[in-house]
Order: sequence, then structure tokens, then C-alpha cells
Amino acid sequence: FSRLKNGLSRSRDALAQMVPGGSVDALSEEEWIDIEDGLIMADCGAELSGALVHKARKRRGGSIAALKESMISMLPEVAPVNEPAGGPFVLLVVGVNGTGKTTTIGKIATMFRQQGKSVLVGAADTFRAAAVEQLAVWVERAGADMVRQHEGADPAAVAFDTIKRGVARNYDVVIVDTAGRVQTDRGLMDELAKVRRVITKAYPEAPHEVWQVVDGGTGQNAVMQVEKFREVAGTSGLIVTKLDGSGKGGIVLQLSHKFGLPVRYVGVGETLEDLMEFNAEEFISSLLP
Ligand code: GDP
Repeated sequence: FSRLKNGLSRSRDALAQMVPGGSVDALSEEEWIDIEDGLIMADCGAELSGALVHKARKRRGGSIAALKESMISMLPEVAPVNEPAGGPFVLLVVGVNGTGKTTTIGKIATMFRQQGKSVLVGAADTFRAAAVEQLAVWVERAGADMVRQHEGADPAAVAFDTIKRGVARNYDVVIVDTAGRVQTDRGLMDELAKVRRVITKAYPEAPHEVWQVVDGGTGQNAVMQVEKFREVAGTSGLIVTKLDGSGKGGIVLQLSHKFGLPVRYVGVGETLEDLMEFNAEEFISSLLP
């Protein structure tokens, strides 16, 4: 996981300055305060940072190993991705524009194709012609298929068509992209709820998963976005992108802990290989010095 290590190097370097090695018992009160501050600065969040330090102090051995164990213990139990035994696996992808939603869908479609699965992508973000074009490029490159309508078309209609076609033609995976203007936009939230409802109408078990893409460099904004979308979209998992651009990789732990949601993928760069399946052990080992 050297790519992940590279991607998280800024976060790790920042934490290295705050977390002295050595045994838990040998650290002074002041050093523990520094560690807690370091975790807060890495965007673990004040509440989680306090809890992590509290847990780590009770453990034996080296401070970094103790922190690592306490981080792992604070993450929710993660169930496997809810893929159905038969029929298409329907994945709804939500999130605010600019977080990397389009490229992330392209990358996920490519991954499924590489596993030999047929993939249909629905472009229900009908307000951004440029984003649809960009998505089309990814979809074609992946060898997947796409459902699209004219600019400004009803997103729910696109979602409905996508699911109907996905079921009729027995695709393995159906991914529905959605619009993400501003999370405070009431109209957008109503629209998202409608897209979800229509998907369930077209195929009663769907969506099987709802993944929200968030930009890992945006701190409290990311927290608010998850809070907002969770109610309306019924978010079941997170994808945290752009962790390479900031020293704030702790946001991944904060979001997962705070909302009890699994992180499914993390993004540490723009290429296909930079989106990787989240593994708590590897992530935390890459985050800590
Ligand atoms: P959307 O508006 O949410 O659909 O965002 P896009 O998919 O268009 O992505 C916006 C920009 O972020 C693009 O230039 C992507 O290449 C870039 N991007 C996406 N994920 C990552 C990441 O993990 N790291 C970095 N550095 N850039 C990313």
C-alpha cells in the first residue's frame, strides 16, 4: 500500500511532529495534550481525539501502537457491501459538486468492469452538461454503458430509465449519478428523495447501497454534508477523496465514527489507481508516523 502511504504523507508528517514515540507510560501530561491537539489538527474531530487519547493512555506499549489500536477500536463494524444474490446491484452515488463524484463513478465503473461485470451508468446529474460529458468519457473507457437524456431532463426520469434498462438487460451493476449543487438547496434535496423513491419503485430492493462522495480536505464542511445527505438519501457508505491534498486525513476516522458509516473507498490522487478500497488497518498504519 505504498500509494496510500504516499497519498497520506502530508497527514503523517503533520502527526509525526505531535506524536512522540516511546512507551505510553513515559509520556507526560503535556505530551498527551500535544498528541490530542495533533489529532484535532488532522481533523479527527475534538470529541474523537479526546476519546482516542483516553483509550491509548490505558494501553501498554509504544504510544503509536496504542493510538493505532484505539483508532481501530473506534471505527464501526463494517458489513460487506450489500450486493444481491441475483439481479443487478444498484448503487446510488450522491455528493456535492467538486468533491470528485464524476471521476469516482468512472473509477468504480472501471473496477467493476475489471472484475468482468457488466456495468450501466445513469447520468441523473442532468444540470451539468460538462459533467455528463466527462462521465461519458470514463464510461466509454471502462467499457460500460450509459443512460442519458437531454440537458435539464428530469433526474428521476433518467434514474427510472436506468433501473428499468439495467433490470431488463440483466446488468451486473447499475450506478446512478445524481446532482449535487449545494446541500442547503431544498429543491435539490427533494429531487434526491424523489430519485431514490423512483429507483425503489422501478426495482423494489434497490438501491442496495447509497455512497456519498466527500472531499477530505474540507473538514467541517464534509461533516455537514454527510449530515445533510444522510437523512434524504439514506447514505450507507462514504467515499473520501482528495486526501493527498491536505494534512487532514483524520477526517476519514471522524466521519466514520461520528455517523457510524463504513468508508468504502478513499481517494489519494486523480488516477484510477489512486482510488482504493478502504482497509482500516492499512489506512491507520499509513496515517500514523
Ligand atoms: P464532481 O464535480 O464532484 O463530479 O468532481 P470531479 O469528478 O469532476 O472532480 C473534480 C476534480 O477533483 C477533478 O480534477 C478530479 O481529477 C479531482 N479529484 C478527484 N478525486 C481526487 C483525489 O482523490 N485527489 C486529487 N488530488 N484530486 C482528485
